[in-house]
Amino acid sequence: MTNISYINGEYCYYENAKTHINDRGYHFGDAVYEVIVFNEKSYFDYDEHINRLFRSLQSIDITLLYSSKSLKIIIKNLIKINKAKSGSIYLQVSRGVANRNHSYNNLNLKPVLVIIVSEKKNNLVDNINGVKTITCQDNRWSRPDIKTTQLLPNILAKTKADKNGAYEAIFIDNKDFVTEGSSSNIWIINKDNEIITRDLDGKILSGITRKTISIFAKNNNINVIERKFSKTELMQAKEVFLTSASSFVTPIIEIDGHVINDGLVGNISNQLRHLYLNNIGNFNHKYA
Ligand code: PMP
Repeated sequence: MTNISYINGEYCYYENAKTHINDRGYHFGDAVYEVIVFNEKSYFDYDEHINRLFRSLQSIDITLLYSSKSLKIIIKNLIKINKAKSGSIYLQVSRGVANRNHSYNNLNLKPVLVIIVSEKKNNLVDNINGVKTITCQDNRWSRPDIKTTQLLPNILAKTKADKNGAYEAIFIDNKDFVTEGSSSNIWIINKDNEIITRDLDGKILSGITRKTISIFAKNNNINVIERKFSKTELMQAKEVFLTSASSFVTPIIEIDGHVINDGLVGNISNQLRHLYLNNIGNFNHKYA
């Protein structure tokens, strides 16, 4: 069991890992985060996740006092001292500690870095069953492209999905277009076999798995189209799947009770999951 984390410059047992009551992450969700999956051999998309963390920090004006090189050393140490074989790494950086006040102007704070390793057997099975989903109104703020810890709409949507026996909630914007899942990017394959995922128009997170799948698809002469698609297109799609760091490529076979592809996992979804799982190890950092 993993029980050592990194916080405020120290490796700590969970029971000793404490942050200040005036941490702005706690008061305001004034923080950003990343999740990186790893197994015995490698990290999955390590550099991309770390680069996105620095982009998120920059976009909300936080300067982390750690280089990507030192982050790597800490993460490697954490995996080692926790004796974790596979699972995920959670990194969170909050703006720092200050008396509660919305403005951070002239505060000159020291950001608080927290890193937690969770051990989990990753589901690296090639052929998996599809999952059920529901749709929800996208009621998030106008910058979902920044990976902040302010996730209330996402957790409410995911909980609604969970209560309805579904794996994911798919957000629909006010013009009836699909944005993304509560913690994933959404893809469809239409009747013309076009593989479509929403473009990076600022209304979705720039998913790392989304990007890697697009590269693997291109390398295998599979064309990916990036554009908005409507809820109607979603419902009429031949195949639907989601992507995320921890779900890889997961086929979707039901949306709001409407069955996709007779409830069967489609060939292209299967092929892309296979491509991802078979190439990600070579594509990535070996850390051992
Ligand atoms: N969209 C949202 C809202 C997410 O939370 C996630 C998971 N981080 C994704 C998309 C997928 O991103 P990634 O492939 O980088 O995990």
